[in-house]
Amino acid sequence: MTVPSPRPVFDAIPGYKAGRPAEHDELKLSSNENPFPPLPGVVERAAAELARINRYPDAGVARLHAALSRHLSRPEDTFAAGTGSVAVLFSLLDAYCGPGDEVVTAWRSFEAYPIAVTVTGATHVTVPLRADHTHDLDAMAAAVTDRTRVVVVCTPNNPTGPVVRHDELERFVAALPSSVLVVVDEAYVEFVRDPDAARGLDLQARFDNVLVLRTFSKAYGLAGLRVGYLVGHPDVAAAVRKATPPFSVSDVAQAAAVASLDAADELAARVEEVVQGRALLLEGLRAQGWTLPDSQANFVWLPSDQGPQLAEAFWPVAVRPFPGAVADGGGVRVSVGTTSANERLLDVAARHLTGR
Ligand code: PMP
Repeated sequence: MTVPSPRPVFDAIPGYKAGRPAEHDELKLSSNENPFPPLPGVVERAAAELARINRYPDAGVARLHAALSRHLSRPEDTFAAGTGSVAVLFSLLDAYCGPGDEVVTAWRSFEAYPIAVTVTGATHVTVPLRADHTHDLDAMAAAVTDRTRVVVVCTPNNPTGPVVRHDELERFVAALPSSVLVVVDEAYVEFVRDPDAARGLDLQARFDNVLVLRTFSKAYGLAGLRVGYLVGHPDVAAAVRKATPPFSVSDVAQAAAVASLDAADELAARVEEVVQGRALLLEGLRAQGWTLPDSQANFVWLPSDQGPQLAEAFWPVAVRPFPGAVADGGGVRVSVGTTSANERLLDVAARHLTGR
């Protein structure tokens, strides 16, 4: 007996490959996670919800929307939360795209984009990054057609690290037809220190077709609980909430997210440590002779034609390899870890260069 086949587009979907588990948790620098354990106060408030998990969670995600509203000074109806920002992106594309539509992104960029676009039946139009690993917004504007429904701009870009400049993104958005949604994916925004970097929320306030994607997985350290959200025009947020499977965000996750917003100052100190770790990694690797683009995220990018071999050589430090030539986005992405994990990474990178 044969089983029914999925829609033909599924043949073209690569499937998401998660980062390799490490032998030692501290050396897992492959998934851009927060190296610090959750704050005790956050764990406590999340754990208190466990006593009620016989009940479905609040489907309206009211507590979290209210907390985000206070935190970002936006009305509650501008938010749509989901099971990680990747799920919010899937729901958004489900709501706005179908066969015959086009979605434009830079490439190389976040690996979930081709999957999220392709499952809708829409066509993924990819625009190569510039040689300096930044978005080529002129080429992306040129790739927009009357079939384009959505453009995704990832800033800082995963996996290469640089941001899009605010003035460039503003010009780009202003020149686009307002019928095209612009998703500014700010998964790593809390790690940005470049004053010229794009500020998605400022643009969202001025352009109704702009929306911002954010997550609790990175700076807030809740990757395992799966909470992300968008900030957008109330009609866009409402459409995405409709497309989101019911009860996506558990009460445990909502409680942890709200507690994390309440502890924003304490978490900001950890983010600062990661930013300092990033500077040390960039400096240390460059001093060894590696060429790296700037990074404004919690990871650094080593362009290489031999990504998989490099990742193998860096073991037991687990990093994320990207196969292919540098021009096609080949290389290795290294998440910033604890001080000792960063030192270990510098050590394996140096040994690789000297062949020891
Ligand atoms: N956007 C980008 C650019 C990312 O790198 C990631 C995580 N790797 C996400 C979105 C999704 O994060 P999450 O689903 O954990 O919120």
